[in-house]
Amino acid sequence: MTQKTSKECYIVVGAGQAGAVAVSSLRESGFGGRILLVGDEPHLPYERPPLSKEVLLTPATAKPTIFDSAFYSSQNIECRFGIPATHIDIHTHMLELASGEQIHFDKLLLATGARARPYPLLDALGKDALQLRSMKDAQALAKRIQPGARILVVGGGVIGLEVAASARTLGAEVTLLERGDRLMARAAPVHLAQALLELHRDQGVRCVFDVDLVKADHAANGSVQLHSQNGEVFVGDLVVYGIGVHLNVELAQASGLKVEDGILIDEYGMTSAPGIYAAGDVARQWQPQLGRYIRQETWSNAQNQAQSVVRSMLTGLPCDPDLPWYWTDQYGSNIQVAGSIEVDEWVTRGNRPDRYTQFGLRDGCVVGAITFNNGKEMRPAKQLISVAAELSNPELLLDPKQDLRKLVVQSALAA
Ligand code: FAD
Ligand code: NDP
Repeated sequence: MTQKTSKECYIVVGAGQAGAVAVSSLRESGFGGRILLVGDEPHLPYERPPLSKEVLLTPATAKPTIFDSAFYSSQNIECRFGIPATHIDIHTHMLELASGEQIHFDKLLLATGARARPYPLLDALGKDALQLRSMKDAQALAKRIQPGARILVVGGGVIGLEVAASARTLGAEVTLLERGDRLMARAAPVHLAQALLELHRDQGVRCVFDVDLVKADHAANGSVQLHSQNGEVFVGDLVVYGIGVHLNVELAQASGLKVEDGILIDEYGMTSAPGIYAAGDVARQWQPQLGRYIRQETWSNAQNQAQSVVRSMLTGLPCDPDLPWYWTDQYGSNIQVAGSIEVDEWVTRGNRPDRYTQFGLRDGCVVGAITFNNGKEMRPAKQLISVAAELSNPELLLDPKQDLRKLVVQSALAA
């Protein structure tokens, strides 16, 4: 697209998925003014999904970088990497960096994401307690996952399960400890959590539930010991924990922006201060269709919301609502979840336990979908969700011999 010359300066703070996509979208959409991308990590922006997968499994060939350095120079995007932004004056539109640099902006996008929630009880183990959020974390973990290493994974969410799968694939012994009574309580329905549990148990992971840790220490031989309240002791060589995230909201909060489980943004992506926007994990956006705020911690939300908010910054049009969607890869199985997981019932298309599509129904309409090793059906499933298709013709829809894409195109099932 041809660029319109402009004297304006747009700054993006946070050089993760949302930040990198935002600056590229600004240029792609024809913004010809000054663009600055500020990130506190020293690297070029990279994708996080490979950190628990390829970077652990095949570190030598994993390439998570989003754009190479030539991209930023060719697009005339100024970068400040390894430098945190420290203050925003929301009235005078001045941004201050830890280096002391002060820059005036016309518009600012906050894409500061999240960090791994710390677990002080485990952090007391020093180098034997690891988390996974950044490239540095993944590189440190990759070095410690060796065949035969005894790994204690704490937290049965997506991080815990993906680390367990990668570690087991590499021949480590894995024990997974979960505080609750099931896996993936935040992001998966009970039956999917059960399927994942079976997958992990089949692969030799020991999964233990209702584990309330009270102490962590080293035995005389150097092994790590985790003590649970009921007296059980779990022994390993290292602990990896994934117990959720802390949002990076401090900069927004200190600058006086409204923050409530994320930086609050309206349907245009704008925060409580004019000209200041937010996107990605850190943003909680007003959804007029639902009448509530929504925050998502997924790659696709970071990507799509950043693009959508950039469009609003440039055109003043409201953002497009984005259908929640994430995937996870474990032991070569690909699982994708879209839409809502709060449904009346799940119905299954396909009769193989290792390959199927499920639709989540509410009041007889498709509001959610799961594909288990059946990713090719996710796109048509999303289309059904987006029109809240009625399941008026279940024999057709649930017959795996029927091509779901054709059924959707024929729209016989659409509302
Ligand atoms: P982030 O990626 O957190 O980036 C924010 C950046 O801003 C960071 O670099 C941060 O250090 C920086 N920052 C913060 N404060 C400041 C400041 N004051 N100044 C400058 N910079 C600052 N999602 C999926 O859908 N599928 C997956 O398979 C999947 N796998 C994942 C695997 C792992 C190991 C992890 C950690 C996440 C995974 N996710 C996955 C989630 C997905 O990666 C995140 O939702 C996405 O990265 C969010 O992007 P973001 O840009 O909003 O935030
Ligand atoms: P999740 O919120 O998914 O899961 C955290 C898990 O830890 C929950 O099962 C939670 O159980 C448990 N937990 C919380 N506190 C404790 C505690 N004190 N002791 C033991 N268990 C505890 O977070 P993750 O850390 O797994 O993931 C972090 C981020 O990374 C998320 O934003 C996630 O979306 C992203 N990510 C996404 C992936 C994907 O989409 N494929 C892959 C990897 C990461 P309880 O319910 O009891 O609180």
